[in-house]
Amino acid sequence: MDRAKLDELIKTFFVCDKPQITQIFDELLSAMAAEEMLPPGTLMSRNYETAQANPEIHTLPGNLKDARDSIFPFFWGTDGWYSKLHLENVKGPANYASLVGSLACLLKNPNLCVDTYSQRSNELEVKAITALANLVFYHTDSPWGVFTMGGTISNLYGGKIGIEKVLPGAMRTGLHDQRIAGIVSEAAHYSNATLTGWLGIGTENLHCIPTDRSVSMRLDLLAERLDQLYGSGSRVAFVIATFGSTDASGIDDVAAIREIIDQKAAQHGQPVPQLHVDAAVGWALCFLTEYHLQKNSFGLSEESLPLVAETQRQTQKLKFADSVTIDFHKMGWGHYPSSAFIVNRRSDLENLFHPMEQVPYFSEADYRRDPALFTLECSRPAIGPYSVMASLNGLGLVGCQMLVANALEMAHSLKQQIDRLDNCKVLNADTVGPSVVWWVLPKGRNAKEIFDRLERGELPEDECRHYSSEIRRLFNKREATLNPATDARLSFTNAMGYRPGGIALPAWKAVFFNPKTDQTVIDQIITSIEELL
Ligand SMILES: *Cc1c(COP(=O)(O)O)cnc(C)c1O
Repeated sequence: MDRAKLDELIKTFFVCDKPQITQIFDELLSAMAAEEMLPPGTLMSRNYETAQANPEIHTLPGNLKDARDSIFPFFWGTDGWYSKLHLENVKGPANYASLVGSLACLLKNPNLCVDTYSQRSNELEVKAITALANLVFYHTDSPWGVFTMGGTISNLYGGKIGIEKVLPGAMRTGLHDQRIAGIVSEAAHYSNATLTGWLGIGTENLHCIPTDRSVSMRLDLLAERLDQLYGSGSRVAFVIATFGSTDASGIDDVAAIREIIDQKAAQHGQPVPQLHVDAAVGWALCFLTEYHLQKNSFGLSEESLPLVAETQRQTQKLKFADSVTIDFHKMGWGHYPSSAFIVNRRSDLENLFHPMEQVPYFSEADYRRDPALFTLECSRPAIGPYSVMASLNGLGLVGCQMLVANALEMAHSLKQQIDRLDNCKVLNADTVGPSVVWWVLPKGRNAKEIFDRLERGELPEDECRHYSSEIRRLFNKREATLNPATDARLSFTNAMGYRPGGIALPAWKAVFFNPKTDQTVIDQIITSIEELL
């Protein structure tokens, strides 16, 4: 080995050159500042053509600026989602307290699989999980959980515990010929289909219960389906309730579902299914659980207070869940990946334990402390705990309350303004949450009347198809003509979660995750709708 060259390599890449690193960060931050001057989403077009054909790698060792240069066009060509005009989906700008936490994490690069690889970072995970558990379950005896790669994986943990509860030992012996079923609502996220597929239950055994107008699982149909499934010899491993559906902010009644599954399981002599709550988006409403409505210290409008009161009614039911999914990278304004899977009772995690002989290289691991003994993943990043604790303590509970209450107020404001237009219809008027889904029909049509007819089952199929195509066409028209400097970026869903008579409802969609989005953005959305023919 040419020791001099090796030493040079070590000096450049393994010794911290503080001025150089801060300079590069300074440059990246300047690029972000420049980006703020431009309309969102327009930074640089893609060049997929050669991404696979020509993935060049330098031959000779370079320096940190080579590292910078190799990623810079892609960094510049990526929208940081900081613009107040981004309303497309359940993605917000990450907050800067989360950046401080996440960068600190990257500097140490802990691996959360066992505490010997991560020391106090593992402790931070316990702290972050407990803090979130207290927010969600509201005083719980023995919460525990882990951070995962995302809501999909957190839901998968919930589903897997359910399988082990109804078919003990399945982790070892497999499912055999046993028919296992899972239940969600028709507004549930597709990750639930993913997990039934990946866990070997089969997507055909995921049963989707229709929702009512408030995009909440129909409880009568849940009870009916449980009778059917038990009657035909299926084991029901889990019900995954949605707390905040991705498109329309629908919330399932967790307390009522608890009552129904307990009662039906007892009636049929079956183990109770896992009641997992997919609160990937909606969990942040829990910040408002303790907001004092009479004092109303934020000065929320008279119209907003009932939204908070309804939120509180729903969040208080989360304590009936067995486990919950929380995406801090969604309405926590944190960095990816920051998703938490939390159980209400620690003993539930025993269903997932690997036997010691499977993990010989973790001989020092302790079941009381080391997540590698039950996690799906082996190596695990610590971004989640660092993002969560830095954010929560930076913003404070009151700061978080303000952000969430503001999102509810903004969504409500847009709903009200849309509702005044005859050719428009808000489809999720009865939900509280940060999202708005609505119809825009051509001027001269009475959208509310058309909706009523559809809901009553009086709208012929061809007419229904025709209106759907008009809603889509007008959305495309706005997209084609919008001014990227002033018009918000909206999105379109083909099925917002409520299906009267089995008919999927297409909709325009806006999600208020960005605290910078203000009334002028909303007014301009209304103007842009009025300007469409
Ligand atoms: C986004 C989302 C998920 C999936 O979460 P990821 O972190 O994207 O994997 C699950 N459920 C709901 C309701 C979601 O909105």
